[in-house]
Formats: sequence, structure tokens, C-alpha cells
Amino acid sequence: MINQFTNIIKKVCHQQGAEQFIPLHEPDFSGTQAWEYVKDCLDTGWVSSAGKWVSRFEEEICKYTGCKDAVAVANGTVAIRLALHVIGVEPGDEVLMPSMSFVATANAASHLGAIPHFVDIEEESLGMCPKALQKQLEKVGKQEGSRVINRVTGRRISAIVPVHIFGHPANLPAIKNIADTWGIPVVEDAAEALGSWNESIHCGLFGKMGCISFNGNKLITTGGGGALITNDHELATKARHLSTTAKKPHQWEFEHDAIGWNDRMPNLNAALGVAQLEDLKRRLIVKRKLAEQYQSELQACEDIAFVTEPSGCHSNYWLVSVRITKEDTNEAKKIRDKILEACHDHKLQLRPIWKPMHQLMMYKDAPQGDLSKTNDQANRLLNLPSSPQLTVFWEK
Ligand SMILES: *Cc1c(COP(=O)(O)O)cnc(C)c1O
Repeated sequence: MINQFTNIIKKVCHQQGAEQFIPLHEPDFSGTQAWEYVKDCLDTGWVSSAGKWVSRFEEEICKYTGCKDAVAVANGTVAIRLALHVIGVEPGDEVLMPSMSFVATANAASHLGAIPHFVDIEEESLGMCPKALQKQLEKVGKQEGSRVINRVTGRRISAIVPVHIFGHPANLPAIKNIADTWGIPVVEDAAEALGSWNESIHCGLFGKMGCISFNGNKLITTGGGGALITNDHELATKARHLSTTAKKPHQWEFEHDAIGWNDRMPNLNAALGVAQLEDLKRRLIVKRKLAEQYQSELQACEDIAFVTEPSGCHSNYWLVSVRITKEDTNEAKKIRDKILEACHDHKLQLRPIWKPMHQLMMYKDAPQGDLSKTNDQANRLLNLPSSPQLTVFWEK
């Protein structure tokens, strides 16, 4: 099975006889206007955190996702931290989030002095499980006026942060319902989910704010960057203000009215972003084709299940993934590790899903509910090489 699997990955990636390295996900600027747009920044001297490319990038994000406001920032982590801050998360608060995420989700809360509180995931979407969220809130939550307090720790629970894993939309309709019942605001970690939709709503727009990342390995990249998307103009204005050192607009006065951050995205990066956004629709089609190709080839493979988009949702298939189906979690992990070894021997960069955050030294003592699904899925999931460029080989 291991050999068969490795051969399928080789075939789909069209790895040549001389076995060139196939990365997990690579940036791609081919066929875009990136050079021209960056050159404009250099020619005009507008390279830093203001300029027409920043505004244009924000406008294009609004147009594509359908949000009212977008605020371009330095990276995805900063976007989450800013969003949590402007919706009212304070030092000492708890923020509910899945343990199964990239470490930045918890770090962003920690940077505000808040404490991550981990909830289990569901198998279908790999995102936060609505039932687990409900159960954990019923177990530890108590309403005190408009606030929700954790009865065990005495801390306020001030936000819920679902994550759209690998671009697969989490079950936001159900999560939002529970959040509304308790009166807890939702901020979506949509770092991986540009181009992913739940019915007709773009990921990030169920909650009060959504956070996108444009890091080098994401679907589109600005080198490094992020954006907040929202339909709440007031929150967007506040976030924009705090991201630019809370400076009041004035031709020469240095008047600041809060302790702000320097979080804005430079014009140079936004120029890359505009060029990449112009390629988004093509890229999404190509990603889907790649996913379909893997899916059909892998059907022959015993003990392997392809991870599909949840029903009713449209995923960007940022990272194509498979699940080892062996019932016993340790057996599944053994197979996973053998696959990783075999593929890396053939220079195919596959990757296991992240180590769940509650297993990391910084977060092992964080408050948490039952995380059995998280612990189990962590042993079974593998990401396959997913660069959009891979399909170019088929067309040759
Ligand atoms: C990439 C990512 C982030 C952080 O984005 P950066 O731009 O790297 O700071 C946060 N959460 C998730 C789920 C991510 O994949």
C-alpha cells in the first residue's frame, strides 16, 4: 500500500525520472502583472505602509468576498490579534478555539494577555465541533449579565475563534447559533480560506470579523501579509486606526489617542497581492482540478480516504489532504509515518497535520474540553503537495 500510495503521488505531481523536489505549496507569480506593479512602487518610491496598491488590494478583497470593509495588515497573526482586540477581548479573558490549528491562532490571543480555551473538532470539516462547543459552554459557562464567565477559572469567555482548516469551511451556521445564544462574539481564523464559501457566504463573514493570511505558503501570497474582512464598518475603522499607531489624521501633528500598533501592510506587498488576486479565479479552478485528480487516483488505495469539502460548502482546497482510515489510532499513525518516510525519500514533501496546540508546551495547561477527536485525527491526517503549478505539467 505504501508503494502504491507513493507512486500515485509521484504520478499526480508528474515527478520526472530525475526526481525533482516537489514542495508542499509554492508561491506562483507566473502569468501575473506582479513585476509591473512592484516596479511601480519602486519607480514612485511608494514602498511602505501607505499607497495606492494597499487601497486597491483592500477594494479588490471587498469585491471578491462581498465584505464591506477590508483592512490589509502585516500578517495573519496580527489580523487575528487586532480582530480579537477590537471586538473586546481583554487581558485575562478566555478565547474558545479548536486545539487543531496552526499555533498562530492561540498565539494571537496570548499576545493580548488572553488565554486559549480548547474545544474539540468534528471529523467532516476538521473545524470546531458545534456539539463540543455547546457541551463545553454548558459545562463551564455561566451567564453574568451580558458576560459569560468560566465557572471553573472565574475568567470571562469573550470570543469564539473557529478555524477553516486547509480551506474547508467550518460549520459556522451552527457555531454562530450557539455563540449568539450565549452572546459571545465570533472571530473567524480564515487564514487558509480565501476563496472558500459556506453556501453563499465567504469564510470570515459569519462572525464579526474574519482574518486572512497571505503568507508565502498560502493560496495567494504578498510575501507576508494578512487582512481583516468584516461587514461592520465601525470595527474596521477602529482596527485600521489601531493598526497605524492610532494616529489622528493631520498634515503635521503627531496626535495619537490610544496605544496602537504598527501593523499595516506595506505598499510593496500589496502590489504583489493585487497581481495575485487577479489570478485567484483561475487558481481556484486549478486547485479543484488537482484535488479531483488526487481523489480519483487514490480511490484504489486501501486504508486511505480523501478529505472532501463539507456538504453545502465550497472549499478552496488550499492543502489537499487524506486520512488514514485504520480504526486503531496508533496503527493509523504508524502507516502515516511510513508514508511520510517513503514520500520524503522520493523528495515528495508531504506533511502531517499540526501537533494539536494542547500538546505544545506553552498550551498544555490551557483550559480544555474533551479533545478525543482532535487527538485521534492528529494521527491520521496528511497533506499532499498542493501547489497550483502542479497541474501545468498535465497541460504540457
Ligand atoms: C497561516 C495561518 C495563520 C497565520 O498567518 P501568518 O500570516 O503566517 O501570520 C493563522 N492561522 C492559520 C490557521 C494559518 O494557517
